[in-house]
Amino acid sequence: MIFRPAPYCNSRRGSSSSHLSRLPVIVFLLAAFCCWSSSRRLTAAFSFSLRVLPSASSTAAIYASIRHQTSASASATPSRRSTISVQAVGSSNNHNTITTMTSPPTLSSSAITVPGIATQTLSNLVEYATSFSAAHGLQVELRDSSSSSPTNNNIDNNTHNRGYITAPISLLPQAYPSLQFRMATLLAAPFNILVDRISNDATFLQETLSDVRNLDEYTGKLLDLYEEIYCGERRGIEWGRHARSADKLGIQRSDYMLHKDTTAAGGDDVGEVATAAGSAGEHYSLKQVELNTIASSFAGLASTVAKMHSFLTQRLEGEIGQFLNENERAVMGTEEDVDGSKTKNAILGASSSSLDDDCIIGIAERGVPESPAMSRIPSAIAVAYDRYCSRFDDTDSSTTTTSAQPIVLFVVQPKETNTVDQRLLEFALWNNHKIPVVRMSLAEIYERVTLDEDSGRLTFEDGSGSSKREVAVVYFRAGYAPTDYPSGYNTNDGTGVEWLARERLERGIATKCPCLGYHLAGTKKVQQELARPGVVEHFFPENDGDDNAAAARLIRTAFAGLYSLGADANDEDMRAVREVLLHGGEGRYVLKPQREGGGYNFYGKQLADKLRSNCTISNGVDEDTPVIQLSPALSEFILMERLFPPQQRAILLRNGRVEGSGMTISELGCFGTIVVSGEGDVIHNEYAGFLLRTKFSGVDEGGVASGFATLSSPYLC
Ligand code: ADP
Ligand code: MG
Repeated sequence: MIFRPAPYCNSRRGSSSSHLSRLPVIVFLLAAFCCWSSSRRLTAAFSFSLRVLPSASSTAAIYASIRHQTSASASATPSRRSTISVQAVGSSNNHNTITTMTSPPTLSSSAITVPGIATQTLSNLVEYATSFSAAHGLQVELRDSSSSSPTNNNIDNNTHNRGYITAPISLLPQAYPSLQFRMATLLAAPFNILVDRISNDATFLQETLSDVRNLDEYTGKLLDLYEEIYCGERRGIEWGRHARSADKLGIQRSDYMLHKDTTAAGGDDVGEVATAAGSAGEHYSLKQVELNTIASSFAGLASTVAKMHSFLTQRLEGEIGQFLNENERAVMGTEEDVDGSKTKNAILGASSSSLDDDCIIGIAERGVPESPAMSRIPSAIAVAYDRYCSRFDDTDSSTTTTSAQPIVLFVVQPKETNTVDQRLLEFALWNNHKIPVVRMSLAEIYERVTLDEDSGRLTFEDGSGSSKREVAVVYFRAGYAPTDYPSGYNTNDGTGVEWLARERLERGIATKCPCLGYHLAGTKKVQQELARPGVVEHFFPENDGDDNAAAARLIRTAFAGLYSLGADANDEDMRAVREVLLHGGEGRYVLKPQREGGGYNFYGKQLADKLRSNCTISNGVDEDTPVIQLSPALSEFILMERLFPPQQRAILLRNGRVEGSGMTISELGCFGTIVVSGEGDVIHNEYAGFLLRTKFSGVDEGGVASGFATLSSPYLC
């Protein structure tokens, strides 16, 4: 790929080196670089909120606690949820709603036994968990769909027949290596910067998504709007002028699985490969599953889950110790000591030779860490809000009543069930910062919110009879899937009202979270393109200083194998395709379309079938090396190396009932928040909390909202 500076990028932002001349960027890059440096002072540039338990006195002691060989439990046959569930509840592929039952919650733990936990203890745990959930709002909303017509997109007309039920949770936390956890927190700030830089590089986005836009109408529409608003294409440069001067707010969540490289053969049985990977005796490293740049959810509920797990692990320490220890052995191994240099390499993807021992000492906590998400995410929104007010709000704050204050607009789905998670943010914004929130669906926004073309202000009548309310920040918790735009794509004839609403919001001077550039930077095709040699480095040019190079190296350690199936597929991509089609390698890959929300990926046999039906295989010059041609229809997919995290036991609760107990795998999500000024200055950039999702080992997909996974917490070991 040839990189050309985008006109938008040049005109607004100056050179990339000017970014680095700005203090906040230096702070985070230096902090990221601390993994390679010998200065502990730099580590302090990142503020971690891990609960520090008795710290180890020496590096050796810490290495001794970082055991890395998998236990026998990792070789257990993966179980499918349907075969191990006790009172199993249905799951759904619907990514817009949380799968729930309408019957009241029951405590049904007596029906199952869990190794290492006495029946009475299990009963107590369930009682505690459901009570804690009720007491702290660890809940999702039930909505009776009969109470609203399918065409009703007004979020307030669904108010009757509502109730709340315990969120899908894992009863106890899952063992997690503290070094890898720390690594994930360190990656948050560099990924934030990467997203911002991508969002300014129109040429990169256009070239990377050029095939996808022709096949995937949704991504195509996002890119069209981005070009029109930020690049002045088709509608003239004036049309997007307010958007171009607006600040940007990112609330990203980078998702990771622990993974160890395996050369295990046999692609037919996915479970066999997973099992082989789990007993290979190598180190686990952190690999990114995806980077979410829009509607990254569960910051609120996951913080509460961590509090609950912290309570349970302390309150019932004696009763659950054996259970936790077995899981720790499954993840950390049983060796009494490890080779420190090997551990460092595992953490840094074998690319570093200078990880400082002091860095390791600072991160050897045990137990459930506290998530700072519910203070840091509202703080980031408050930074964006305050900047908006100081730039544009001309009302006299000494006389302004709260009913005249600018607001943060939460863009939500009409029949959202994950409302508590969103409300927790709303309440924290008010409690901590006195910032009011208003919730609307895209269809309501189309009806109610107007854009003043001269000033760029977004306003609406709030029904209280006072003058118009102004929108300072737009926070999208909807709009990430085609289903959020049910009126279709036609904006020319005025029928595509949700897209018209999105366009209107984007064109205003309010700060968007995310703006279109950030949204596009989170697409799976961009993720795959970033893994190409030199692409991350393009965004962190080495000649701009060591910090850039260190950030690029840090980011690259988190990449798994990612392969294009488009016109740009190279020899390496085709090797992966050949492995699937000719050598039974489908168990080592995941096939992903450009979709968010869970439930769309292809695994195992379905993956092979999908590829096969979209490829032509013909004899080459030599019969042993057939020629494979990819159909253009595959351009909207990427092929990704399949990750095999360690398996450990968990007890999963769905709808307040014990769904089952069995071997599970987990996915860690780390939130990062960034605020960038209209001029391109990084105002705020930090790690902002975590989420752990746990699902039974035999379940391929992973969303909590889509009914596959449960919310959990890491128990740092
Ligand atoms: P979505 O946007 O739908 O959340 P993801 O890339 O996160 O897309 O994939 C959905 C789920 O599929 C993940 O949560 C994870 O459980 C599983 N998954 C995705 N990629 C991989 C992978 N490379 N290896 C193993 N599991 C994966
Ligand atoms: Mg995901």
